[in-house]
Amino acid sequence: MKYVSTRGAAPVLEFGDVLLEGLATDGGLYLPESWPPLPDLAADADYVTIAVEVMWPFVEGSISRDEFAAMVADAYGTFHPPAGSTPDVVPVVDLRDNLWLAEIFWGPTLAFKDIALQLVGRLFDHELERRHDRVTIVGATSGDTGSAAIDACRDREHIDIFILHPEGRTSEVQRRQMTTVPSANVHNIAVDGTFDDCQDLVKALFADEGFRREVQLSAVNSINWARVMAQIVYYVTSARAVNQRLGRPLDAPVNFCVPTGNFGNIFAGFAAMRMGLAIDQLIVASNSNDILTRFFNTGTMDIRGVSPTLSPSMDIQVSSNLERLLFEMSGRDGAGMAELMLRFRSDGSVTVLPDQMAWLSERFSAGRYDDDECLALIGERFRDDGILIDPHSAVGVGVAERLRRGTDVPTICLGTAHPAKFPDAVEQATGQRPPLPDHLADLFERPERFATMADDVETLKAYVRSHLVSHS
Ligand SMILES: *Cc1c(COP(=O)(O)O)cnc(C)c1O
Repeated sequence: MKYVSTRGAAPVLEFGDVLLEGLATDGGLYLPESWPPLPDLAADADYVTIAVEVMWPFVEGSISRDEFAAMVADAYGTFHPPAGSTPDVVPVVDLRDNLWLAEIFWGPTLAFKDIALQLVGRLFDHELERRHDRVTIVGATSGDTGSAAIDACRDREHIDIFILHPEGRTSEVQRRQMTTVPSANVHNIAVDGTFDDCQDLVKALFADEGFRREVQLSAVNSINWARVMAQIVYYVTSARAVNQRLGRPLDAPVNFCVPTGNFGNIFAGFAAMRMGLAIDQLIVASNSNDILTRFFNTGTMDIRGVSPTLSPSMDIQVSSNLERLLFEMSGRDGAGMAELMLRFRSDGSVTVLPDQMAWLSERFSAGRYDDDECLALIGERFRDDGILIDPHSAVGVGVAERLRRGTDVPTICLGTAHPAKFPDAVEQATGQRPPLPDHLADLFERPERFATMADDVETLKAYVRSHLVSHS
């Protein structure tokens, strides 16, 4: 498989290059040159089997089938859904009235980013081994991404990972998930500043060309194609599982509702659709930072400020993966995309043409759900059914109830975080503090390890240089 940039002016690359480079040199995002059809699958195929089959065409030519299958099995072996839940890895729960919750959060750090990052960490290490190379991953986090990236990179031979978090400003669960990882290649830094200060420090490192080359700086951010690729799989497994439970043909159409911020998760659903998965309605769910809802309902994308919500992992200003959808919408017109994105950058706003709006409306619906609505929904679902739902997943369930067209077609909501990852909001809504699952039950007893640092880029550079595993 070859990969092309959404802006049409970067070299066409192989999977291994796309994996390590992330962003294309023309500022665009990589997409496969064509969409392969979904494979034929046995009725009883498990998650790992389906994952290998679905992703194989995207990596073929860059990696051997046996090595790939081993990495996939290893990555999803880190998932621990409760005994007895089905299907494996990503269980599906009945929410009544033909509404379903696909629990994509049973990975090591309890949010769905593990699905992509557990595989991407292994793919990185494999590709670097092949090239006799190594990288230094540096990132800033306010919570979910940092812990998932650390867990994915721990003990990888060819990777050092440095994650900056704002001191005292992440939740204790999130901080401990990062700081209790004992691996020598994992470096946590608590910065005396805000999340924005952390992000600015990371940007400053990447902007220093010399330093960047010296330590082989890299990132595993949400625009990386490999992350999207890994997320296609649970659309396939969840649709099959729900159809199977309802006694419908395994390929009967379903709806999906996805709580999203960067549009990464739901773009994977669109990719599944492109590959032939029967999806009737693809529903985009936002919290009150609703740039996506406004875009899908009006055709205009405009930047506004971000306000904090109970679903912080969806508090974004611009949805970076939307560019991939716009590229598909434009019939893969790279030059047109480059111009559109330039206009968006300079004006802070862009409007699509009426026929493009029709193309979008045919495939997507979008709605928003604010904090008060979420708290009410979480409380109600707990009182009525005894189910605890985290505030991100609640945005999806609420919007699905509101926007699905009837109950004949099953609607699958993606549960993106375990309720114990956001215990304060869940407790506020239900009076119940959700317990951590077994594999994290002793999180609060594990020793923590992190450095504290002033908000200063030279101090950070010196720290990175002196703490690389390869230099120790
Ligand atoms: C990252 C995240 C999201 C948003 O994912 P996108 O890729 O931005 O769509 C939603 N919920 C949780 C819990 C997350 O960690």
